[in-house]
Amino acid sequence: PKRQLKGAEERLMVAVRIRPLKNDEPQRCLFAINKKNIVIEDSDRSDVLRQRRSYDKQYSFDVVFGENSTQEEVYKVTTSSLVQDVLNGYNATVFAYGPTGAGKTHTMVGDSSQPGIMVRALNDIFEAVKEKQDQYSVSMSYLELYNEQIRDLLNPSSGYLELREDSRGRNIQVAGLQEISTTSTDEVMQLLQKGNKARTIEPTAMNKTSSRSHALLSVTVKHSVPLDKKEHLRMRIKQGRLFMIDLAGSERANKTKNRGKRLQEGAHINRSLLALGNCINALSGGARYVNYRDSKLTRLLKEALSGNCRTVMIAHVSPSVTQKDESRNTLIYADRANNI
Ligand code: ADP
Ligand code: MG
Repeated sequence: PKRQLKGAEERLMVAVRIRPLKNDEPQRCLFAINKKNIVIEDSDRSDVLRQRRSYDKQYSFDVVFGENSTQEEVYKVTTSSLVQDVLNGYNATVFAYGPTGAGKTHTMVGDSSQPGIMVRALNDIFEAVKEKQDQYSVSMSYLELYNEQIRDLLNPSSGYLELREDSRGRNIQVAGLQEISTTSTDEVMQLLQKGNKARTIEPTAMNKTSSRSHALLSVTVKHSVPLDKKEHLRMRIKQGRLFMIDLAGSERANKTKNRGKRLQEGAHINRSLLALGNCINALSGGARYVNYRDSKLTRLLKEALSGNCRTVMIAHVSPSVTQKDESRNTLIYADRANNI
């Protein structure tokens, strides 16, 4: 069935997930008020006259997941309908945004006791096609974008891979990227964890395991549809693709006390995140012209960010008062995508 998405609301969902406060974190500055609203308390700004409340800032989103939200709940609300889209031959994208340590990888990958979105989505896809193996084929690839360079996380020894496209800027492909066909959820979890270990992780002054790379899982579902009712002699291939992305930490380069190499990495990361933000902003109706060419990330996502496709952004924040500035920046970025 042909489908036409109506407007920005159907095309883009902006969600925020607050991770639980850790034992060594002193106190909260950020709360989910309800299923759609978050408040940041600004206690820095003088409380002598008990006027603090007027400095609190509220933000609202399509959905807010509080500290006690479950992996299943986050998957169901954000991604399960995208899986249906992909089974019906549409492209879709879900990405995790936020600073290092805010819970992106937990949401997207998780672990075997609390599997994340990537695993659950693949699981649902496998379930849906299980009885119809002759009609469907499913394959996946997992790549890293680090410093505007592409590496295959399922085959890291293959070095840097090239982004290829035809002269009209269509049909974008990563040359040499491994496409794996599997229908085993256990195997997928293992592949993702192995892939994640191959991600480029470099120590910075701010956080020992600060991740400066984007990880992009792409799942392609091909469905052979017979064109004639009776004999099934002529077939048409319907293809849908789901992109699931664990973005690099959004913390600003100037916060890490680095010069030289690390600073350049920061600039690249921000270029991709900025380009993504601009595309999302354009999609949600805030800008007329969408420039996908600004970064490799947006070039890779072009076919899924344009037209009749749905996109979900899950912004991640820590509730800790020590992370207030980063949390505020994250909510502002997400709010910009949401409001325009
Ligand atoms: P990021 O990928 O954004 O850098 P992680 O996903 O690695 O952050 O999360 C940082 C730490 O917090 C990890 O130890 C992770 O297990 C934990 N964590 C994050 N989100 C949650 C959550 N919703 N529930 C429980 N633990 C979480
Ligand atoms: Mg991570």
